[in-house]
Amino acid sequence: MTSSIEKELQALHRQSNLRSLPALTHDGRDVITGGRRMLNLSSNDYLGLACDRSLRETFLHTLTPDNFLPTSSSSRLLTGNYAVYGELEECLARMLDVEAVLLLNSGYHANTGILPAVSDAQTLILADKLVHASMIDGIRLSTARCIRYRHNDMTQLERLLNEHHNQYRQIIIVTESIFSMDGDEADLSTLVRLKHDYDNVLLYVDEAHAFGVRGARGLGCAEEKGCIRDIDFLVGTFGKAAASVGAYVASSRMLKEYLINRMRTLIFTTALPPINIAWTHFIVQRLPDMSGKRKHLANIGRMLRQALADAGYVCPGNSHIIPMVVGASNRTLQQAEVLQQQGFYVSAVRPPTVPEGTSRIRFSLTAAVTEEEIQRLTAKLEAP
Ligand SMILES: *Cc1c(COP(=O)(O)O)cnc(C)c1O
Repeated sequence: MTSSIEKELQALHRQSNLRSLPALTHDGRDVITGGRRMLNLSSNDYLGLACDRSLRETFLHTLTPDNFLPTSSSSRLLTGNYAVYGELEECLARMLDVEAVLLLNSGYHANTGILPAVSDAQTLILADKLVHASMIDGIRLSTARCIRYRHNDMTQLERLLNEHHNQYRQIIIVTESIFSMDGDEADLSTLVRLKHDYDNVLLYVDEAHAFGVRGARGLGCAEEKGCIRDIDFLVGTFGKAAASVGAYVASSRMLKEYLINRMRTLIFTTALPPINIAWTHFIVQRLPDMSGKRKHLANIGRMLRQALADAGYVCPGNSHIIPMVVGASNRTLQQAEVLQQQGFYVSAVRPPTVPEGTSRIRFSLTAAVTEEEIQRLTAKLEAP
């Protein structure tokens, strides 16, 4: 008798949706797998800092056995609160010009911890239909009621706010700034305007894909739009452009204090190793000077989008995350294979990460990719 788990795995396999952990070796900008060397176009190393050996060398020179601390041995609320956490928090708060910054172990910890901490049954969460799984899980863990609005539909959001603001103690609008799978952007200016129309509406923005990449000093889309202080919970992560690990939330001093007292994914977990915090600090201090990398990334993003549009793909947005929507999972896997044969490591994104029938190749560009490589990639694009 086949167990239900086995049946489910077989069904995933039949639908070309079975996942496995790829075995691969990294070599600078390249990955090597199955004997093939390919340019990594699936990485979140948006500024190319993770593959920059000299940066690591410089950092290594600052280390001694006394400050190379590979564990904090405890939650920050007990004995894990090394000075480096506070130093990075102050550095970020100064850069962002906000009252307070709280470090968290990851974007996943941030998004699954903040919403349950600040919500109750008198809270309504209005979340964009396409928010990242970590925010969905945060919403599920909370006691709030939740309504998902159509992706980036500000008219529907305005209607929902108008309809419900009297019935709840508070409403929290939840969005990403650059969306993970479609690479398009939220309309932060309109979100801020809508929030300010009511005195019980809070705004929660996840800048995982924008921190380091957007804004004059790399602080994200909120910096670019000049609305950092209009956002009640501004979340950024270090695992992508900042080539590290961890996350932060910028907020008021009072909200930070509240989170320290109520946020389970902060309280009940060992804080990140001080060595990781020191590396993040090292990178964050250098972000303002990396506008050359940000410009280059924007430029190759425009090139690839244009080429995809010319080949007949619909390609909204203008970020460095560029979806090529093929449709069926099996055809998407074939297209990924063709590109891999040409030396480009791309992966097929399939359900349940994206809706049925919208399987896609997701190009995730980094500043380490050259214009020539984009030209070579786009020279052989197949029409949809
Ligand atoms: C990657 C990502 C996260 C998770 O961040 P981690 O630090 O990797 O846990 C959260 N939100 C969004 C939008 C992401 O893309």
